[in-house]
Amino acid sequence: MGWLPDCVFTGEKFEFGVAFFSDAMGRITRFSREPADLAQARRLPGQAALPGLVNTHSHSFHRVLRGRGEHRARGDRPATDPWRQAHDRAAERMTAEGIFDTARMAFMEMLLAGITCVGEFHYLHGNADGAGAGGSAMAREVVRAAHDVGIRIALLNAAWIRGDFGAPAGSAPPAFRSATVADFVRSTETLRTFVAGNYPADEAWVGVGIHHVGGVTVEDIRAIANYGHAQRLRLHAHVGTSAEENARCIAEHGRGPVALLAENGVLDKRFTAVDAIHATDDEAKLLGAARACVCACPTAAQNHGLGAAPVEKFIAAGAAVALGSDTGVQIDLLRDARTIEYGLRTNRPERGALSPDPAVALLHAATVAGARSLGATGGGLEVGRPADFFTINLFEPSIAGADADTLLANIVFALERRAIRDVWIGARQRIANGRHVAHGTIVGRFVELQQRLWSQP
Ligand SMILES: [Zn+2]
Repeated sequence: MGWLPDCVFTGEKFEFGVAFFSDAMGRITRFSREPADLAQARRLPGQAALPGLVNTHSHSFHRVLRGRGEHRARGDRPATDPWRQAHDRAAERMTAEGIFDTARMAFMEMLLAGITCVGEFHYLHGNADGAGAGGSAMAREVVRAAHDVGIRIALLNAAWIRGDFGAPAGSAPPAFRSATVADFVRSTETLRTFVAGNYPADEAWVGVGIHHVGGVTVEDIRAIANYGHAQRLRLHAHVGTSAEENARCIAEHGRGPVALLAENGVLDKRFTAVDAIHATDDEAKLLGAARACVCACPTAAQNHGLGAAPVEKFIAAGAAVALGSDTGVQIDLLRDARTIEYGLRTNRPERGALSPDPAVALLHAATVAGARSLGATGGGLEVGRPADFFTINLFEPSIAGADADTLLANIVFALERRAIRDVWIGARQRIANGRHVAHGTIVGRFVELQQRLWSQP
């Protein structure tokens, strides 16, 4: 299998007049300018090829919440965030079939946005069917949905044991709760066995997560870190999502969440801190010294009014920065990328705030850093890596007229999602001309689910 777009992004820049080829395993075997190879490759006229994007942090079931939390809380009682209310209601009502249909919808949208690999931070373990509560039934449905639409997935199975800082064990909301850390590890092992037995290792794999530091005890953190290290699993945790979280962590433990995780053996190159909006300078240094990763989710953070992560501090300290869609209020990783740079430019009218060439740095965050965070095989179009890529229409109005020097900046700062034409994962075509083969079914099932889910009183 070979492809010949007008140009292909090979890491630093676009190369023109180059074909690339893959083997039967879907891995890239060579790039070539030989006339015979150019003649043999599938011509993709008027298109550029880029490495598939890696969405490092997603909660796919939040797709049912889109548009449900944008109004101000009503009434004069203490205001409960309408988004949070909808979140808890959806979680209580979600069935195994429902989460499959929801995840398929979210994952298809990701494919349409050029995303070829997702880190699904999964904490909805309860099941409104009543079967398998606290087990891995819901996680299995999410993995099945990823396989069905054809996206690679790292399922980060997340522990949430107590409600929050200082709360007793077992006080986490029932839909999200693991009874004990031992139960959590057991159910993660069951999930790993299921995933390893049913899907290729580079298509679906399991990591672990800590939903938030307040949701577990110090003993739980140590047990999860030990388990993760022993099994060489990726470990992700929401940290520094709010200033209040930091204050409560210091009140209970005498230190902030990143320092607490560091002291208990969590921080290393397999760890990713998600959000990290309120990370201090010292916490950025801890993450950098451990060569850990930080996943920023700027669109979702803007939507929740949380503020912006200090990404320039993480990069300066030596941590990698990846990007996530998180709540998926809008699934467009390139929008997330440009939002990072614009956040840094706020009140500082200097271009190239993140790095001298922000387009390159931001695409790196959306590809290479994400793949590293998830332990994925993709991240770049190179010999030996999988042929995971998307193509864009160079004549689509949002980027038309870009030349070789400005094409990447056009894409990172201006590309509209509709410019994305084809998506290939492991040399298998998943999106053709902006459409998934099961588009109608996936959307239809999701629309029916939404009607069922929200029509109940
Ligand atoms: Zn999240």
